[in-house]
Amino acid sequence: MSFNSLGLSDALLKAISKKGYTTPSPIQQKAIPPILEGKDVLASAQTGTGKTAGFTLPILQLLSQGQHLSRRPIRALILTPTRELAAQILANIKEYSTFLDLRSTVIFGGVNQNPQVTQLRQGVDILVATPGRLIDLQNQGLISLAKVEILVLDEADRMLDMGFVRDIERIIKVLPSKRQNLMFSATFSKDIKKLAMGILHNPVHVEATPENTTVDAIIQKVYPVAKEKKTELIIKLITEGNWKQILVFTRTKQGANKLTESMISAGIKAAAIHGNKGQGARTKALAGFKDGSLTALVATDIAARGLDIPLLPHVVNFELPNIPEDYVHRIGRTGRAGASGEAISLFSPDETVFLRDIEKLVGLNLPKENIKGFEPDPNASKEPIKQGQGRQQRDSTPRKPKTDTTNRSSNNSFGPRRPSQNNDRRSNR
Ligand code: AMP
Repeated sequence: MSFNSLGLSDALLKAISKKGYTTPSPIQQKAIPPILEGKDVLASAQTGTGKTAGFTLPILQLLSQGQHLSRRPIRALILTPTRELAAQILANIKEYSTFLDLRSTVIFGGVNQNPQVTQLRQGVDILVATPGRLIDLQNQGLISLAKVEILVLDEADRMLDMGFVRDIERIIKVLPSKRQNLMFSATFSKDIKKLAMGILHNPVHVEATPENTTVDAIIQKVYPVAKEKKTELIIKLITEGNWKQILVFTRTKQGANKLTESMISAGIKAAAIHGNKGQGARTKALAGFKDGSLTALVATDIAARGLDIPLLPHVVNFELPNIPEDYVHRIGRTGRAGASGEAISLFSPDETVFLRDIEKLVGLNLPKENIKGFEPDPNASKEPIKQGQGRQQRDSTPRKPKTDTTNRSSNNSFGPRRPSQNNDRRSNR
């Protein structure tokens, strides 16, 4: 299938080809036609599948065909859980709308509101927003949502995880009741279904199933290592392997900071990205990582969610996640948009339970490789370390193990669904 056959306008096709896309991803093939028909859509899709273009392209087409009002009221509202995701969606919209007369902007918290208000005053057709700042500006009477025709809830599961459900309900109350609704979520817990039922009308369900995907392989390796030697090992891997771009995951913000400092002391250009970092620092770190001036980006799970970092050759789990689903999200950062990658986990004895849960979830026995001089003490305690938060409760059904017993798992660039998320607050990430 080509983009031409999806019924998109010439202006959009030109922008798509400028972006270098040749074939629509499965979620795009499935979501674009019903959205163009004006239907509500409930899509099961995750970052990395091409979902952003899946909803922004048809929205741009619908808005450009619609009535042009000189004052440009907000006609499409896209709600996202994080600032990074919001900024990325806006960047995509700007690219896709290069040849259209549509204006778009983004608002999120953590930065001065004045430039955002100035943009809004000038009139925008499409607004990308995180819920908190939107409500804030709305309460101040600085924003009107009375003319919204299309509402998108992106990463709805993550919005619920982050406790935005009340905010979403408040926002919906001020929207016109007649509107098109699109909801994207990686997982469908009871709460998500409830939210969807309250918002969507006769939605068309779409999902990017594994059969339809260009599945790339991620090579997964586990290095058993003494806990106190993890830092030394990761530095060795990066320097001796001459790795140029590596995304490293830690469980906590403190852990991310500590590791970053050690890397910097060892001469590796590194930065941490987590919830305690200001917006400026996060944006700078991400930009540095993308342009190659930083070798390592050390992130917590929440901070990494939604980041669009293409073609990552290496992802390292410096610490295994205590939420097994996070493992799948993490390793999905390698080999996105068509390339393959390597996901390495540094596994210490106290993480035995975490590894067991991960292997159960992915249905694979991950291959373990000892590195001489770094092996853990065989008598070390296998008890999980206490972090003050403990292991969190799952509210979702664990995935059935797959029959595949190779060391490869399907990457979800343009594809496979991710397993379910937990409904926790993960406050120290
Ligand atoms: P998303 O899931 O929206 O975050 O997109 C993941 C990545 O895939 C982004 O870097 C997009 O620019 C890219 N992408 C989206 N659609 C396509 C396509 N049809 N062909 C190639 N790359 C795409």
